[in-house]
Amino acid sequence: MLSQLEQTSDWKSRYQDALGELEAREREWRAIEELLRKTIGRLAIAGRGLDQRLDRQLLEIQELSREKRDEKLAEALARLSEIITALDDPKPGGKSRRSDPIMLMLELLQGIHFNIDQRAHLREICSELLKSVAGGHDREKISTYVQQLAALINENFDNVDQDRSVAVVMRLLDLLELEPACSLQVQEKFAHLENFEEAELQNLARMLNLQLVGKPDDSSIDEVMTTLLERLAIVQGNDGSAQAIQTRIHENGEENWADTLNDIVNSVSASLKRLDSEKKELEAFIVHVTTQLGEITESVADGHRDHCSDHEDAQSLHNFVEDGMALIQKNFQSASDLHELKASIADNITQIRDGVETFVERFHERHEATEERNLRLTEQLSKMEQETQELQVMLNENREKLLYDSLTGVHSRMAYDERIVQELARWDRYQTPFSYAILDIDHFKHINDSFGHNAGDKALKIVAQMMLQYVRQSDYVFRIGGEEFVLLLTNTPAADAAGMIEKLRAGIASSAIHFKGEPANLTLSAGITETRPDDNFESIYERADNALYRAKHSGRNCQFIAD
Ligand code: GH3
Ligand code: MG
Ligand code: MG
Repeated sequence: MLSQLEQTSDWKSRYQDALGELEAREREWRAIEELLRKTIGRLAIAGRGLDQRLDRQLLEIQELSREKRDEKLAEALARLSEIITALDDPKPGGKSRRSDPIMLMLELLQGIHFNIDQRAHLREICSELLKSVAGGHDREKISTYVQQLAALINENFDNVDQDRSVAVVMRLLDLLELEPACSLQVQEKFAHLENFEEAELQNLARMLNLQLVGKPDDSSIDEVMTTLLERLAIVQGNDGSAQAIQTRIHENGEENWADTLNDIVNSVSASLKRLDSEKKELEAFIVHVTTQLGEITESVADGHRDHCSDHEDAQSLHNFVEDGMALIQKNFQSASDLHELKASIADNITQIRDGVETFVERFHERHEATEERNLRLTEQLSKMEQETQELQVMLNENREKLLYDSLTGVHSRMAYDERIVQELARWDRYQTPFSYAILDIDHFKHINDSFGHNAGDKALKIVAQMMLQYVRQSDYVFRIGGEEFVLLLTNTPAADAAGMIEKLRAGIASSAIHFKGEPANLTLSAGITETRPDDNFESIYERADNALYRAKHSGRNCQFIAD
């Protein structure tokens, strides 16, 4: 038998052991509980169906907790926590549903040209924008970045005005496609335009002329200006200010070249400004689309949050019902009579029913809101689609204008560049032949000199209109230079083309056009060829040009078919 004291100390030590064990278990439980709370908190943010790994882990946890394997549960929960943390912090470049609209925006931005510094800045803004969209969906931040983006785009165009003459000349040189070394020289000279000496200007003119038309050094500055302006007229489309400067050169003679060059630069600058304003409109549209995409991203995020709430609610409903059932069970065991039991169970059931009803109401409310949001999203998207279509129409109209020559109404040089490539490709692929002729008005300089530039313009219009009358519907008339035209006659052998051009030539020669009461003696010479195997842009032009050269040297007002 144990003494009273021994008995007491035995109880005490057993009590203390039990207490220690209880405390240890409690600590363990608190750790698990802590982890559980954190995990559930994260779950609320992440939701389900986002990631396969997450779904698998959730399933594992469900099974472990059902089987009450607590020792493994803590480990599984820790892994889950890791997976969710990785989900919250998506890898850069990883495809995430939220970043898609931003990727689209980046694609749109690629259409705009930024300089190197701006590109770096652009990358910075975009990556911040990306982060803030992928992160907390902070509206204010997103809007700040979008504003920064807009400012950057505007800045890009302000640059054109800042150092206008240099920028403009550089763009002009781009358009002229000069040799790089020559382009550099011209740039340097243009930078000090106001200090120009007459002789230096003549040098510049010769150099430019050599590049542009490949003629020897003795060309006059008049020709250089004309060639420059012709090229400019092609760029300007229907604007016509190049044409006006050209008229003035002809009327005033070779007096003030520095002024004229200045005019040309101004004219180029005006054209570029017009192009820039079109571009600005396009960019304003891009910023607009970007903002709308931002809003859509927000909406998608809201939808995502709703999805999480559904999940949370379903969980709490499940717990609520389980608690209710446990309470029924408890009441069942503790009730002393059937009457009392019936009353308490009826109470429990009412509570459960109320809980379920509240849940259903909340669920409906949330889904109504989702439907409304989807409707708004659809409207927004269709509005964007419409705006994009309108812009497309505007761009097409502008392009359409550029495809016609403003003076004569026939196809422009730009149309020629596109069409000849297409027709040659067709020839190469399907062997559909065509004839090709260069028609050049004879002694046109003389017409300008004798009757004035306006009369020259009128003559160009008349000749172009006559060409249109002689060709077939399926043929093309292009004005490719000052008084130089190309006819592209589809599915026509050179002999047939020559027959038609013969009639056209005779028709023009006998048209008895008069200016200022005198006959203008308007005639033209032609070089004709047809497609040959392996023809390209240059080879076909060269053959027809050689034939034209022969026509000019045989006394003009005649035509030759290339050998
Ligand atoms: P050729 O018989 O050898 O072809 O002699 P040409 O005088 O016709 O040829 P050249 O190439 O020497 O001169 C072409 C002239 O055409 C020079 C230029 O002033 C004039 N020209 C070019 N474009 C226009 C224009 O749009 N309107 C007017 N009125 N004249 C132009
Ligand atoms: Mg000529
Ligand atoms: Mg010519």
